[in-house]
Amino acid sequence: MRVGIIGAGAAGVFAAIQVKNNYPNARVEILEKSKKCLAKVKISGGGRCNVTTGIEEIAKICASYPRGKNQMKKILHQFGSVETKEWFQSRGVKLKTESDLRVFPISDDSQTIIDCLLQELKQKNIPISYQYPIDHIKLSKGDFEVSSKRHEHSRTYTYLIIATGGAPKIEGYTWLEKIGLQIIPPVPSLFTFNVPKSNVRKLMGIAVPHAIVKILGTKLISQGPVLITHWGFSGPAILKLSAFAARDLHQSGYDFTISINWTGTIDQNVLKENILFEQQKQGRRKISQVKLFGVPARLWTYLINKSSMSAEATFAELGSKSINKLIHMLCNDTYRIQGKTTFKEEFVTAGGIDLATVDTHSMESKTIPKLYFCGEVLNIDGITGGFNFQAAWSTAFIAGKLKSVS
Ligand SMILES: Cc1cc2nc3c(=O)[nH]c(=O)nc-3n(C[C@H](O)[C@H](O)[C@H](O)COP(=O)(O)OP(=O)(O)OC[C@H]3O[C@@H](n4cnc5c(N)ncnc54)[C@H](O)[C@@H]3O)c2cc1C
Repeated sequence: MRVGIIGAGAAGVFAAIQVKNNYPNARVEILEKSKKCLAKVKISGGGRCNVTTGIEEIAKICASYPRGKNQMKKILHQFGSVETKEWFQSRGVKLKTESDLRVFPISDDSQTIIDCLLQELKQKNIPISYQYPIDHIKLSKGDFEVSSKRHEHSRTYTYLIIATGGAPKIEGYTWLEKIGLQIIPPVPSLFTFNVPKSNVRKLMGIAVPHAIVKILGTKLISQGPVLITHWGFSGPAILKLSAFAARDLHQSGYDFTISINWTGTIDQNVLKENILFEQQKQGRRKISQVKLFGVPARLWTYLINKSSMSAEATFAELGSKSINKLIHMLCNDTYRIQGKTTFKEEFVTAGGIDLATVDTHSMESKTIPKLYFCGEVLNIDGITGGFNFQAAWSTAFIAGKLKSVS
């Protein structure tokens, strides 16, 4: 039995290891377009590789997938974050879970993960053919004949696993569409928001731990840390929103309006009570000098000015109209977003192989028997936090079972 795996990223390499584990006599080989394998693993998580999530409950993990949420439920039952940790730990990789539940190798070095996977490939005698960009698949008498313009001869396999990752443009999937596969057009996910015309950028470096961000005109909302950068807004709440809104934002040409509640979930009546309390207690103090609701001092002054009030004003000078204005600004601070910036630490493609055409119990194509998929080539993507690698390990584990082997 000959098994070909296209793509030597996390998914392809993990799938190859699983196939050989399940079928020790199979001839397994990986075909890789570039000169390197596991290139994204190397740069992942800022070079530390956020290998999975510390969340173990499947329903909770699934909530982190804007695309593929329902399918991931079934997929994670076969191989979830617990199994991922066990798999690496049983091969000598020591892991740690950080306070935000991201899991990294204790070495803080992605090379540890790469070494572990390469060791497995070596032990199992699985070769990788580098500089082998597959651009054509021919179905021939139940076998797969795969070829590359760069190579004279094609290779034939009984089973084929596609693990080619995401592609930024639909053209990157043409060779797959040619064999009748359905592709959901790709759009970027996980990016930060640009505010080229706003003075808020002068506050770069300020982080607010519990903000709520809404995209106006939609129901999309996200809660968590927001970081002000020299080009706009970043931080987990923004990245999460960029993922869940990836398609809407692409359609808007990345020109949209957000509103930020810098106080998080504090009720507006409570905000008002607090301000009135300060007014009674220290009426002569300047409003800019009192730190309220955990809002950093420079941001507080900026918001006071943005509400057309003087930072020199005292609490005693605040009339009820001004108090309402201030509260409105704290809770509904709006910005026109014009453009996005790639988040260097992690980005993924939303889109890829349509999940409706894949049997998620086996990761086999519903239309072409013996053809399997795993990793980012599928229309599954997660927010930051180890969810994207988890999808790669899980789908590769299942694809590697080659369920249709008779
Ligand atoms: C900078 C960065 C940091 C990241 N950090 C994290 C993180 O810490 N945690 C996390 O969970 N996720 C992270 N991600 C996302 C994660 O890296 C991907 O989701 C994951 O690598 C997908 O694995 P894959 O094997 O499906 O695809 P890839 O890693 O993209 O691998 C696909 C492979 O297929 C090859 N290939 C493509 N087309 C062909 C072809 N036609 N023929 C032959 N070979 C082909 C490619 O060269 C590549 O080697 C990060 C992403 C980026 C860009």
